[in-house]
Amino acid sequence: MILHLSSDISQANQEAVLAAHPGFHFQREDGIHVVITSSKEKEVNSTIAQFVEDSFVFDNDIQLASRSYQEATRTINIGDIVLGGSSNHTAMIAGPCSVENREQLMHTAEYLNGLGIKILRGGCYKPRTSPYSFQGLGLEGLKILAEARDKFGMKIITEVRDATHVAEVIEYSDIIQIGAKAMYDQGILKACAKIKKPVMIKRGFGTTLQEFVQAAEFVLSGGNPNVILCERGIRTFETKTRFTYDLCGVAWLKQYTNLPLILDPSHAMGYRFGIPDLCRASVALGIDGLIIETHPTPPQALSDAAQQLDFAEFKSMYESLPAVAQAVGRTMI
Ligand code: PEP
Ligand code: MN
Repeated sequence: MILHLSSDISQANQEAVLAAHPGFHFQREDGIHVVITSSKEKEVNSTIAQFVEDSFVFDNDIQLASRSYQEATRTINIGDIVLGGSSNHTAMIAGPCSVENREQLMHTAEYLNGLGIKILRGGCYKPRTSPYSFQGLGLEGLKILAEARDKFGMKIITEVRDATHVAEVIEYSDIIQIGAKAMYDQGILKACAKIKKPVMIKRGFGTTLQEFVQAAEFVLSGGNPNVILCERGIRTFETKTRFTYDLCGVAWLKQYTNLPLILDPSHAMGYRFGIPDLCRASVALGIDGLIIETHPTPPQALSDAAQQLDFAEFKSMYESLPAVAQAVGRTMI
Protein backbone atom coordinates (compact mmCIF):
# COMPACT_ATOMS: atom_id res chain seq x y z
CA MET A 1 0.00 0.00 0.00
CA ILE A 2 1.22 3.51 -0.75
CA LEU A 3 0.15 6.46 1.41
CA HIS A 4 0.53 10.13 0.53
CA LEU A 5 0.93 12.52 3.44
CA SER A 6 0.79 16.27 3.04
CA SER A 7 4.03 18.20 2.62
CA ASP A 8 3.50 20.11 5.87
CA ILE A 9 2.78 17.11 8.12
CA SER A 10 4.63 17.45 11.45
CA GLN A 11 7.47 15.15 12.41
CA ALA A 12 5.38 13.68 15.25
CA ASN A 13 2.51 12.87 12.91
CA GLN A 14 4.90 11.31 10.36
CA GLU A 15 6.15 9.10 13.16
CA ALA A 16 2.59 8.16 14.12
CA VAL A 17 1.89 7.08 10.54
CA LEU A 18 5.08 5.01 10.41
CA ALA A 19 4.25 3.39 13.76
CA ALA A 20 0.85 2.36 12.38
CA HIS A 21 2.26 1.35 8.97
CA PRO A 22 5.93 0.38 9.28
CA GLY A 23 7.56 0.68 5.88
CA PHE A 24 9.59 2.94 3.66
CA HIS A 25 9.26 6.69 3.82
CA PHE A 26 10.66 9.42 1.58
CA GLN A 27 9.72 12.93 0.55
CA ARG A 28 9.11 13.56 -3.15
CA GLU A 29 10.47 16.59 -4.96
CA ASP A 30 6.99 18.17 -4.88
CA GLY A 31 7.00 17.89 -1.06
CA ILE A 32 4.58 14.98 -0.67
CA HIS A 33 5.65 12.41 1.90
CA VAL A 34 5.30 8.87 0.61
CA VAL A 35 4.98 5.83 2.87
CA ILE A 36 5.07 2.35 1.33
CA THR A 37 4.30 -0.94 3.00
CA SER A 38 3.86 -4.47 1.69
CA SER A 39 1.03 -4.86 -0.81
CA LYS A 40 -0.56 -7.26 1.68
CA GLU A 41 -1.74 -4.19 3.61
CA LYS A 42 -5.08 -3.07 2.19
CA GLU A 43 -6.51 -0.60 4.69
CA VAL A 44 -5.42 2.66 6.27
CA ASN A 45 -5.33 2.40 10.06
CA SER A 46 -8.16 4.58 11.40
CA THR A 47 -5.93 6.16 14.09
CA ILE A 48 -3.85 7.96 11.46
CA ALA A 49 -6.41 8.30 8.64
CA GLN A 50 -6.64 12.05 9.25
CA PHE A 51 -3.00 12.47 8.09
CA VAL A 52 -3.40 10.50 4.86
CA GLU A 53 -4.28 12.54 1.77
CA ASP A 54 -4.40 9.61 -0.61
CA SER A 55 -3.90 5.86 -0.49
CA PHE A 56 -3.26 3.24 -3.17
CA VAL A 57 -3.82 -0.50 -2.79
CA PHE A 58 -2.16 -3.17 -4.98
CA ASP A 59 -2.50 -6.90 -5.74
CA ASN A 60 1.25 -7.50 -5.53
CA ASP A 61 4.52 -5.73 -4.74
CA ILE A 62 4.75 -3.88 -8.04
CA GLN A 63 3.62 -0.60 -6.50
CA LEU A 64 5.64 2.57 -7.18
CA ALA A 65 6.48 1.21 -10.64
CA SER A 66 2.85 0.45 -11.42
CA ARG A 67 0.82 2.44 -13.96
CA SER A 68 -2.12 2.11 -11.58
CA TYR A 69 -0.16 4.31 -9.14
CA GLN A 70 1.33 6.72 -11.66
CA GLU A 71 -0.04 6.38 -15.15
CA ALA A 72 2.49 8.50 -17.01
CA THR A 73 5.90 7.09 -17.82
CA ARG A 74 8.50 8.59 -15.50
CA THR A 75 10.63 11.43 -16.84
CA ILE A 76 14.37 10.90 -16.48
CA ASN A 77 16.71 13.88 -16.82
CA ILE A 78 20.33 13.16 -17.63
CA GLY A 79 21.74 16.67 -17.70
CA ASP A 80 19.93 18.26 -20.64
CA ILE A 81 18.85 14.90 -22.08
CA VAL A 82 15.25 13.95 -21.35
CA LEU A 83 13.98 10.38 -21.51
CA GLY A 84 10.48 9.11 -20.82
CA GLY A 85 7.61 11.36 -19.76
CA SER A 86 6.12 13.10 -22.73
CA SER A 87 9.47 13.47 -24.51
CA ASN A 88 8.85 10.71 -27.10
CA HIS A 89 12.62 10.38 -27.33
CA THR A 90 14.38 7.17 -28.22
CA ALA A 91 17.99 7.60 -27.16
CA MET A 92 20.89 5.77 -28.73
CA ILE A 93 23.45 4.70 -26.14
CA ALA A 94 26.56 3.20 -27.70
CA GLY A 95 30.12 2.22 -26.99
CA PRO A 96 32.29 -0.79 -26.41
CA CYS A 97 31.45 -3.66 -24.10
CA SER A 98 34.57 -2.85 -22.05
CA VAL A 99 36.84 0.14 -21.69
CA GLU A 100 40.07 -1.59 -22.76
CA ASN A 101 42.53 1.29 -22.96
CA ARG A 102 42.51 5.04 -23.42
CA GLU A 103 43.06 4.97 -27.18
CA GLN A 104 40.24 2.49 -27.87
CA LEU A 105 37.76 4.42 -25.77
CA MET A 106 38.67 7.92 -26.98
CA HIS A 107 38.65 6.77 -30.61
CA THR A 108 35.18 5.24 -30.12
CA ALA A 109 33.85 8.29 -28.29
CA GLU A 110 35.14 10.62 -31.01
CA TYR A 111 33.47 8.53 -33.71
CA LEU A 112 30.14 8.27 -31.91
CA ASN A 113 30.17 11.94 -30.95
CA GLY A 114 30.69 12.75 -34.62
CA LEU A 115 27.49 10.83 -35.42
CA GLY A 116 25.61 12.83 -32.78
CA ILE A 117 25.43 10.10 -30.10
CA LYS A 118 24.96 11.69 -26.68
CA ILE A 119 25.41 8.79 -24.26
CA LEU A 120 28.54 6.62 -24.18
CA ARG A 121 28.65 3.14 -22.67
CA GLY A 122 31.71 1.17 -21.55
CA GLY A 123 32.20 -1.35 -18.76
CA CYS A 124 35.05 -1.01 -16.26
CA TYR A 125 34.03 -3.71 -13.77
CA LYS A 126 33.11 -6.62 -15.99
CA PRO A 127 30.98 -9.42 -14.57
CA ARG A 128 32.71 -12.19 -16.56
CA THR A 129 31.61 -15.79 -16.45
CA SER A 130 35.24 -16.98 -16.17
CA PRO A 131 37.75 -15.65 -13.62
CA TYR A 132 40.46 -16.00 -16.32
CA SER A 133 38.78 -13.58 -18.75
CA PHE A 134 39.48 -9.82 -18.86
CA GLN A 135 37.86 -8.34 -15.76
CA GLY A 136 37.92 -4.65 -16.77
CA LEU A 137 40.18 -1.73 -15.91
CA GLY A 138 38.29 -0.72 -12.76
CA LEU A 139 38.93 2.81 -11.54
CA GLU A 140 41.42 3.50 -14.34
CA GLY A 141 38.58 2.80 -16.80
CA LEU A 142 36.22 5.17 -14.99
CA LYS A 143 38.84 7.91 -15.32
CA ILE A 144 39.12 7.28 -19.06
CA LEU A 145 35.31 7.54 -19.38
CA ALA A 146 35.40 10.80 -17.40
CA GLU A 147 38.03 12.13 -19.80
CA ALA A 148 35.78 11.28 -22.77
CA ARG A 149 32.88 13.05 -21.07
CA ASP A 150 35.01 16.16 -20.52
CA LYS A 151 36.37 16.16 -24.05
CA PHE A 152 33.17 15.38 -26.00
CA GLY A 153 30.40 16.45 -23.62
CA MET A 154 28.83 12.98 -23.76
CA LYS A 155 27.05 11.38 -20.81
CA ILE A 156 28.48 8.18 -19.38
CA ILE A 157 26.80 4.91 -18.47
CA THR A 158 28.90 2.19 -16.85
CA GLU A 159 28.12 -0.91 -14.86
CA VAL A 160 28.52 -1.82 -11.23
CA ARG A 161 29.43 -5.48 -10.66
CA ASP A 162 29.27 -5.68 -6.87
CA ALA A 163 28.82 -3.49 -3.81
CA THR A 164 32.59 -3.03 -3.25
CA HIS A 165 32.88 -0.35 -5.96
CA VAL A 166 29.33 0.97 -6.11
CA ALA A 167 30.43 4.34 -4.65
CA GLU A 168 33.03 4.82 -7.41
CA VAL A 169 30.57 3.98 -10.17
CA ILE A 170 28.00 6.34 -8.66
CA GLU A 171 30.60 9.11 -8.51
CA TYR A 172 31.84 8.76 -12.10
CA SER A 173 28.74 7.86 -14.10
CA ASP A 174 25.73 9.84 -15.27
CA ILE A 175 23.62 6.67 -15.40
CA ILE A 176 24.46 3.70 -13.19
CA GLN A 177 24.07 0.35 -14.95
CA ILE A 178 23.19 -2.62 -12.77
CA GLY A 179 23.95 -5.68 -14.87
CA ALA A 180 22.01 -8.87 -15.46
CA LYS A 181 24.17 -10.75 -12.95
CA ALA A 182 24.17 -7.96 -10.36
CA MET A 183 20.47 -7.09 -10.32
CA TYR A 184 19.75 -9.30 -7.31
CA ASP A 185 22.52 -7.63 -5.24
CA GLN A 186 20.59 -5.71 -2.64
CA GLY A 187 23.74 -3.89 -1.48
CA ILE A 188 23.90 -2.30 -4.94
CA LEU A 189 20.15 -1.70 -5.17
CA LYS A 190 20.01 -0.05 -1.75
CA ALA A 191 23.07 2.13 -2.48
CA CYS A 192 21.33 3.29 -5.67
CA ALA A 193 18.15 3.96 -3.70
CA LYS A 194 19.95 6.65 -1.69
CA ILE A 195 20.93 8.78 -4.67
CA LYS A 196 19.03 10.63 -7.37
CA LYS A 197 21.18 9.73 -10.38
CA PRO A 198 19.40 7.58 -12.98
CA VAL A 199 19.84 3.85 -12.57
CA MET A 200 19.38 1.36 -15.42
CA ILE A 201 18.61 -2.16 -14.22
CA LYS A 202 19.21 -4.98 -16.69
CA ARG A 203 17.02 -8.04 -16.53
CA GLY A 204 18.76 -11.15 -15.23
CA PHE A 205 18.68 -13.98 -17.72
CA GLY A 206 16.59 -16.14 -15.36
CA THR A 207 14.47 -13.29 -14.02
CA THR A 208 10.70 -13.15 -14.31
CA LEU A 209 9.08 -9.83 -15.11
CA GLN A 210 7.71 -9.70 -11.55
CA GLU A 211 11.19 -10.15 -10.04
CA PHE A 212 12.64 -7.65 -12.51
CA VAL A 213 10.21 -4.91 -11.52
CA GLN A 214 10.60 -5.76 -7.82
CA ALA A 215 14.34 -5.09 -8.18
CA ALA A 216 13.31 -1.62 -9.39
CA GLU A 217 11.04 -1.28 -6.34
CA PHE A 218 14.14 -1.64 -4.10
CA VAL A 219 15.53 1.53 -5.67
CA LEU A 220 12.22 3.42 -5.93
CA SER A 221 11.18 2.69 -2.32
CA GLY A 222 14.37 4.31 -1.04
CA GLY A 223 13.40 7.58 -2.70
CA ASN A 224 15.24 7.45 -6.04
CA PRO A 225 12.51 7.92 -8.67
CA ASN A 226 14.93 7.67 -11.62
CA VAL A 227 14.84 4.02 -12.60
CA ILE A 228 15.03 2.64 -16.14
CA LEU A 229 14.58 -1.02 -17.08
CA CYS A 230 16.63 -2.80 -19.73
CA GLU A 231 15.62 -6.00 -21.53
CA ARG A 232 18.76 -7.85 -22.71
CA GLY A 233 17.53 -11.38 -23.35
CA ILE A 234 16.65 -14.32 -21.16
CA ARG A 235 17.81 -17.93 -21.19
CA THR A 236 15.48 -20.43 -22.84
CA PHE A 237 15.94 -23.86 -24.43
CA GLU A 238 17.20 -22.10 -27.60
CA THR A 239 20.98 -22.12 -28.08
CA LYS A 240 21.46 -20.80 -31.62
CA THR A 241 21.39 -17.23 -30.36
CA ARG A 242 23.03 -16.16 -27.09
CA PHE A 243 19.74 -15.40 -25.33
CA THR A 244 16.07 -15.05 -26.26
CA TYR A 245 15.02 -11.42 -26.72
CA ASP A 246 11.77 -11.10 -24.81
CA LEU A 247 9.83 -8.49 -26.75
CA CYS A 248 6.53 -9.79 -25.35
CA GLY A 249 7.98 -8.97 -21.94
CA VAL A 250 8.77 -5.47 -23.19
CA ALA A 251 5.14 -5.05 -24.27
CA TRP A 252 4.06 -6.20 -20.78
CA LEU A 253 6.41 -3.75 -19.05
CA LYS A 254 5.11 -0.94 -21.27
CA GLN A 255 1.52 -1.79 -20.41
CA TYR A 256 1.85 -2.23 -16.66
CA THR A 257 4.82 -0.16 -15.46
CA ASN A 258 5.69 3.51 -15.54
CA LEU A 259 9.42 2.88 -15.95
CA PRO A 260 11.23 4.01 -19.11
CA LEU A 261 12.55 1.09 -21.18
CA ILE A 262 15.90 0.67 -22.89
CA LEU A 263 16.51 -2.36 -25.07
CA ASP A 264 19.78 -4.21 -25.58
CA PRO A 265 19.71 -6.46 -28.64
CA SER A 266 23.54 -6.77 -28.59
CA HIS A 267 23.63 -9.09 -25.57
CA ALA A 268 20.43 -10.89 -26.56
CA MET A 269 21.68 -11.82 -30.03
CA GLY A 270 25.32 -12.39 -29.14
CA TYR A 271 26.36 -12.14 -32.79
CA ARG A 272 26.83 -9.15 -35.08
CA PHE A 273 24.38 -10.42 -37.68
CA GLY A 274 20.78 -9.63 -36.88
CA ILE A 275 21.55 -6.72 -34.57
CA PRO A 276 20.64 -3.97 -37.09
CA ASP A 277 17.29 -5.69 -37.77
CA LEU A 278 16.69 -6.12 -34.03
CA CYS A 279 17.47 -2.43 -33.48
CA ARG A 280 14.80 -1.45 -35.99
CA ALA A 281 12.31 -3.92 -34.50
CA SER A 282 13.02 -2.56 -31.02
CA VAL A 283 12.59 1.08 -32.02
CA ALA A 284 9.28 0.10 -33.66
CA LEU A 285 8.02 -0.96 -30.21
CA GLY A 286 8.10 2.69 -29.08
CA ILE A 287 10.87 2.52 -26.48
CA ASP A 288 12.95 5.09 -24.63
CA GLY A 289 16.34 3.91 -25.77
CA LEU A 290 18.67 1.35 -27.26
CA ILE A 291 22.06 0.33 -25.87
CA ILE A 292 24.39 -1.07 -28.51
CA GLU A 293 27.96 -2.36 -28.37
CA THR A 294 30.43 -1.07 -30.94
CA HIS A 295 34.22 -1.37 -31.14
CA PRO A 296 36.89 -0.08 -33.54
CA THR A 297 38.09 -3.66 -34.24
CA PRO A 298 35.50 -6.13 -32.92
CA PRO A 299 37.54 -9.32 -33.49
CA GLN A 300 40.19 -7.93 -31.13
CA ALA A 301 37.73 -6.92 -28.39
CA LEU A 302 38.59 -8.22 -24.91
CA SER A 303 34.93 -9.03 -24.14
CA ASP A 304 31.86 -9.79 -26.24
CA ALA A 305 33.89 -9.75 -29.47
CA ALA A 306 31.27 -11.62 -31.52
CA GLN A 307 28.47 -9.13 -30.94
CA GLN A 308 30.15 -5.72 -31.21
CA LEU A 309 29.40 -3.84 -34.43
CA ASP A 310 32.26 -2.19 -36.28
CA PHE A 311 31.87 1.52 -36.95
CA ALA A 312 30.59 1.10 -40.53
CA GLU A 313 27.96 -1.42 -39.41
CA PHE A 314 26.97 0.82 -36.53
CA LYS A 315 26.62 3.88 -38.75
CA SER A 316 24.43 2.25 -41.37
CA MET A 317 22.18 0.76 -38.67
CA TYR A 318 21.99 4.10 -36.83
CA GLU A 319 21.06 6.01 -39.97
CA SER A 320 18.14 3.64 -40.60
CA LEU A 321 16.48 4.31 -37.23
CA PRO A 322 14.99 7.85 -37.47
CA ALA A 323 12.44 6.72 -40.09
CA VAL A 324 11.34 3.82 -37.87
CA ALA A 325 11.11 6.08 -34.82
CA GLN A 326 9.11 8.62 -36.80
CA ALA A 327 6.66 5.93 -37.89
CA VAL A 328 5.78 5.32 -34.23
CA GLY A 329 5.68 9.00 -33.23
CA ARG A 330 9.16 9.19 -31.73
CA THR A 331 12.42 10.99 -32.33
CA MET A 332 15.87 9.43 -32.14
CA ILE A 333 18.26 11.42 -29.97
C1 PEP B 1 27.22 -5.40 -20.66
O1 PEP B 1 26.37 -4.50 -20.81
O2 PEP B 1 28.34 -5.39 -21.21
C2 PEP B 1 26.84 -6.57 -19.86
C3 PEP B 1 27.72 -7.29 -19.19
O3 PEP B 1 25.52 -6.81 -19.91
P1 PEP B 1 24.60 -7.85 -19.09
O4 PEP B 1 24.69 -7.44 -17.66
O5 PEP B 1 23.26 -7.65 -19.71
O6 PEP B 1 25.16 -9.23 -19.35
MN1 MN C 1 28.99 -6.73 -23.15
